[in-house]
Amino acid sequence: MNNCSIEGCIKPVKAKCLCAMHHQRKLRHGDPSIVRPRRVKKTVKCSWVKCEERAMTKGYCSKHYYINRVMSLVK
Ligand SMILES: [Zn+2]
Ligand SMILES: [Zn+2]
Repeated sequence: MNNCSIEGCIKPVKAKCLCAMHHQRKLRHGDPSIVRPRRVKKTVKCSWVKCEERAMTKGYCSKHYYINRVMSLVK
């Protein structure tokens, strides 16, 4: 019995040299290697003025979280 022709896939062939999963993908996307893109998580931007970085901690990016923390210690 043959295995799926997709590299790294060891599932048995269902149709056209592809396993059931990869055959389905080929039917759906025209390319068995395409994985349906996952919904991207909503990203929160840093609340620092004019900062476009992704917020990591408490609404700030790592850099501004650090600055904010240092500034609050100075106060
Ligand atoms: Zn496969
Ligand atoms: Zn920032």
